[in-house]
Amino acid sequence: SMWRRESHWRRKLFNEVQELKGNIRVFCRARPCLLQRREHSAIEVIDADKVLVKQKLFEFDRVFGEVHTQEQVYEDTSPLVTSVMDGYNVCIFAYGQTGSGKTYTMSGPPESRGVNFRALEELFRIGEERSAAVQYTVEVSMLEIYNESLRDLIQNRPDERLDIKLGADGNPCVPDLLWVPVHSLHEVWEVMEAGSRHRAQGATRLNIESSRSHLVVSVVVQGVNRHTGSRLTGKLHLVDLAGSERVARSEAEGARLREAQHINKSLSALGDVFAALLAKQAHVPYRNSRLTHLLQDSLGGDSKTLMFVNVSPSAEDVSETLSSLQFAQRVARVELGAATRHT
Ligand code: ADP
Repeated sequence: SMWRRESHWRRKLFNEVQELKGNIRVFCRARPCLLQRREHSAIEVIDADKVLVKQKLFEFDRVFGEVHTQEQVYEDTSPLVTSVMDGYNVCIFAYGQTGSGKTYTMSGPPESRGVNFRALEELFRIGEERSAAVQYTVEVSMLEIYNESLRDLIQNRPDERLDIKLGADGNPCVPDLLWVPVHSLHEVWEVMEAGSRHRAQGATRLNIESSRSHLVVSVVVQGVNRHTGSRLTGKLHLVDLAGSERVARSEAEGARLREAQHINKSLSALGDVFAALLAKQAHVPYRNSRLTHLLQDSLGGDSKTLMFVNVSPSAEDVSETLSSLQFAQRVARVELGAATRHT
C-alpha cells in the first residue's frame, strides 16, 4: 500500500534480512546457572548463533548466553516494533521448559525489564516521533489459554470462557475480549499488572501453576496519516507459552495428565503451523489449537514471527534442553538451507 512505501526508509536490518530469509526467526537464549540450585552448565554458546549441547551443535538466527543482558537481547527484537507501527502483524513467542527463563525474557524483573516492556516503550516512542505525520491509537488485551479454554485477564470474570469467532474482516476474533485504549507506556503497564494479578489469583483459585497456561498479551495499533488520510493497522502479540516439559504418564494422572495433554497438543500445533508455513504448504492447520487459531492472522502471510527458545544450562535439564532445541531447530531449519546464509 501507499503507507508501506512511505515508511520504507524505516526498514532496518531485520526487514532487509527478511526478504532473504522469510518471516520466521528463532533466537535461542540460555539463562545463567542459578547458584541457589547449585547448577553445573552442560551447554556452551559458540559464536553469536551456535550452541553446543552434548556434542550436538544447534544453529539459530541468534544465540544469547549468560553474558547477554536484557538490553542486548532486546536490541535484535526492536526492528519488529517498527514493523508493527508500519502496519504489520508480529508475534513474539517464548518457548521452553518451566524454569528456563521465558518469563524473565518476556517480562523480566522491574530492575531488568524484558521484551514486553521494552517493545511497548519503543512503540510509544515511535508514535511520538511520527506524531506530526501520523495519529496512532493503541489498544491492549490480555488473555490466558488453559486446557484449551480462553480467559480474559483484564475483565477477570473467573467463570466466563471466551469463544473464537469469525470477525467481519474474515479473521478469527474473540468478540467478548476487552480491548483497553491506552495512551502511554504507564497506562499499558497498569493494565498488564492488573492482568498479571488476576492471572495469579486464578491460578491459586484453580490450584494450577501459571506455567501450565499460555499468556497472550496483544496490542493493536491503528494509524491515520494526517496528510493523506490513509490508514493502517498493526498487531503485536507477546506470548509466554506454557512450559514445554514432558510429563511422564507414570507421574501424572487425572487433572495433571489432561493439562499436560492440552499443552502438548497446542505446542505441537504451533510447530505444525510453522512447518506448514515454512514449507509453503497451501493448507496451514491453524484450527488444531486455540492458540494458533487465535493468532491465525498474525502467523504467515506478511506477518513476522520471532520465537525465543529458552533453555536451562543445567546438566540436570539436558534432555529437556535437547528437546526444546530440536523443536526450535525444526522451525529454523528450512531457512537455514538458503543460499544466502553464511556459516
Ligand atoms: P520460566 O518462565 O521459563 O518458567 P523464569 O523466567 O521464571 O522461567 O526463570 C527461572 C529462574 O531463572 C527465575 O528465578 C529467573 O529470575 C531466573 N532467570 C531466568 N533467566 C535469567 C537471566 N537471563 N538472568 C538471570 N536470571 C535469570
